[in-house]
Amino acid sequence: MHELSLAEAVHNTIKELCQRSSWSRVRRVTLKVGRLRQVNPELLSFAFGVLTKGAVTEGAELSVMELPVVFHCRACGRETSGDVTAFACVNCGSADVELLSGMELTIESMEVESQ
Ligand SMILES: [Zn+2]
Repeated sequence: MHELSLAEAVHNTIKELCQRSSWSRVRRVTLKVGRLRQVNPELLSFAFGVLTKGAVTEGAELSVMELPVVFHCRACGRETSGDVTAFACVNCGSADVELLSGMELTIESMEVESQ
């Protein structure tokens, strides 16, 4: 399960942050995940919940903000976004595009308690 390895990576990062910052509890974590990551938010939250058992993050709520795929066309300058199936500009058809959003996997915010 792809979501489990992502949840592990996120969970390890959070645990490190907690150690470094002396946080005693994590209440809520918001993640930004780009659509190209092809993550199922429910599976990700479930996997995260399993990992938090007995850890500083136990009981933390994980919310996932899904970000759309957006790319910029170098040929005509237009942006394409939404449920894109191919990396080609909808305006001119060029494949010379630059990805602006869609590959994110970052912690947007955290609610914590410190000792
Ligand atoms: Zn174009």
